Amino acid sequence: MDNEEYDCLSCGACCRDVADGTALVSEDDLVRWKREKADHILAALVPGHFSQMGFGTHDNGTCLFLGTETNPNACQIYETRGWACHALVPGSSQCQTYRKLYFTKLEQKPK
Ligand code: SF4
Ligand code: SF4
Repeated sequence: MDNEEYDCLSCGACCRDVADGTALVSEDDLVRWKREKADHILAALVPGHFSQMGFGTHDNGTCLFLGTETNPNACQIYETRGWACHALVPGSSQCQTYRKLYFTKLEQKPK
């Protein structure tokens, strides 16, 4: 269900309000990033749940990898993002809950 309505690169809702280390990465991710020499990703990981590593976040709960120079909603490492990022399927009920929360918050922000 990866259609225009659920275009992750223009959304990023589920990459916000993420507690430190809860967007988990898998052993395969670690092996791939080592192979890709993606040291900047490996250096940004923090201990997560279940003895796994996860992505670190800013103080406001936004994943360290969210936002590029031209697009605040795009993942900087989209092509090689981690296990938990893939596990959240665009258009799923979890995705829709994140989107509802984030876009409602945006609408309520004073202009
Ligand atoms: S999975 Fe859903 S909430 Fe997350 S970035 Fe993609 S469209 Fe947005
Ligand atoms: S790595 Fe990318 S897709 Fe995964 S939580 Fe961070 S910004 Fe979102």
